[in-house]
Amino acid sequence: MTKSVIVVGAGLGGLSTALRLSYKGYQVTMIEKQALPGGRLHVLKKDGFTFDVGPSFFSMSYEFKELFDSIGEPIPFELNELNPLYTVNMAGSDRVFQIYKDLDRLANEFKGIEDDFENKVRGYLKGAKEIFHDTEYKIIKRNFDNIVTYAMSMATVPFKHLPKMFRTFWEELERHFESEEVKIIFSLVAFFLGATPFNTPSVYNLLNYTELEHDGYWNVKGGMYKIVEGIMGLLEKKGVKMIYNTEIMSVQHSGGKMVSVTDANGEVYRADLFVINADAAWFRGKFLQRAKYSEAKLDKMEWTLAPFTIYLGVKGTIPGIHHHNYFLGDNFRGYADTIFRSTVAPEKPYYYVNVASKSNPDCAPEGCENLFILCPVPDMRVKPDWSDADKLVNEIIEDLGKRVNFDIKNNILTKVVYTPNEWQKMFNLYKGSGLGLAHGLNQIGALRPANKDEKLNNVYYVGASTHPGTGLPIVVIGSRLVTERIENEH
Ligand SMILES: Cc1cc2nc3c(=O)[nH]c(=O)nc-3n(C[C@H](O)[C@H](O)[C@H](O)COP(=O)(O)OP(=O)(O)OC[C@H]3O[C@@H](n4cnc5c(N)ncnc54)[C@H](O)[C@@H]3O)c2cc1C
Repeated sequence: MTKSVIVVGAGLGGLSTALRLSYKGYQVTMIEKQALPGGRLHVLKKDGFTFDVGPSFFSMSYEFKELFDSIGEPIPFELNELNPLYTVNMAGSDRVFQIYKDLDRLANEFKGIEDDFENKVRGYLKGAKEIFHDTEYKIIKRNFDNIVTYAMSMATVPFKHLPKMFRTFWEELERHFESEEVKIIFSLVAFFLGATPFNTPSVYNLLNYTELEHDGYWNVKGGMYKIVEGIMGLLEKKGVKMIYNTEIMSVQHSGGKMVSVTDANGEVYRADLFVINADAAWFRGKFLQRAKYSEAKLDKMEWTLAPFTIYLGVKGTIPGIHHHNYFLGDNFRGYADTIFRSTVAPEKPYYYVNVASKSNPDCAPEGCENLFILCPVPDMRVKPDWSDADKLVNEIIEDLGKRVNFDIKNNILTKVVYTPNEWQKMFNLYKGSGLGLAHGLNQIGALRPANKDEKLNNVYYVGASTHPGTGLPIVVIGSRLVTERIENEH
């Protein structure tokens, strides 16, 4: 008999699970709080401008290929490899670093800054490559039933990597490089894991291998939302029912099974199986009253930084800016030490700017640019009040204008700002944390909220805060793992 599945949440995790399950013959219904699918992979259209709301690029593009291969469909959007990967603007200097995958070209960028860069980076990437391939299938791309199987799997990771558990990300970089510039640039990725390079374990240097050597960075022709549109076309073909503007507010269970979920209007939805794409830790606390995930316990967990995002439609073309740009302030160590703990908006903020119109002119009216600015800030446990948002917006616009030598302030045609408050409300992100639970060694593998519920045997989880973790390709891997479980068990 055909089994019915309700997926709560139509983020990338939910969509890719719905895709896999519908092609395997399950009858899938998706229930989404927002008016559009995609979750954080959202789109914003205003005054002739189109903005990617959240993600703007990704690594491990082959995970998308795997997703569509697994259902026997061609990939429904066009991947575009970034070259350079990104651009870094250091504080107090006109020097702009273009970060290339091609190590000869990259070495040229660091000429006069880091002696013998090419040899050093090859040595550094060799170690990062080994740890990536030695853990990929043992830790990331497999399900864990319990802590014992996880510990056994960890024990099969070659012993030579053990010291990396005890070194920090920064210490590993110090073993290979001398210049502050190289160390700072290569350590930026640590902030996305939910910590600073000064307290992230050095194993995560593997991310620089995925970026610089393995598969690089990619985006999608026509904007990132094409991913969602492509998946939606296939879901439609399979008759997946989509219910929008509907927030699940309670769940009903009996005899070790979830029976139904209920929305804000009291409408009840029943199914044989449930896949939860809302945050896996928050959902367990809020709707299943699990003591381990009470608010007090969630507050003690480590969460990734919250996004403070600005979407600007600007008249004119800005010559001094590229597609993907980091603008760094000074005092890197001091900034890193306070950014997670500060109760006030950051002074001299570090931020990222994406100008999609540089490679996709359809995103902005002719002669204009669309700017997406992301400034990572403390989550709402630390700074719940964002009534001072305008100060940070003005500071960033002022700083960016000076650094790219263009009067942005007086050429703004449209402006939208999302503080962590909006991010929390839009997608139920816990205290506004942008990427969900952090990836410290105590919150990965079997130590992360599992993708199968502990007590209800027809409830599964997919997305950023469950195994294997956050980021677009990783939640796609998560959809494969949860689908495997469902297929084996039901
Ligand atoms: C600003 C920003 C920039 C990012 N940049 C990148 C990047 O460049 N590259 C990258 O790889 N990753 C990036 N990420 C991370 C990436 O967006 C996430 O890891 C990924 O999108 C998570 O997908 P998900 O399916 O887990 O969750 P979500 O996208 O959050 O989807 C969950 C869905 O569930 C819905 N929902 C929640 N509760 C309920 C409920 N009770 N009832 C009904 N629906 C509900 C939400 O509305 C949402 O649509 C970024 C994230 C942010 C915030």
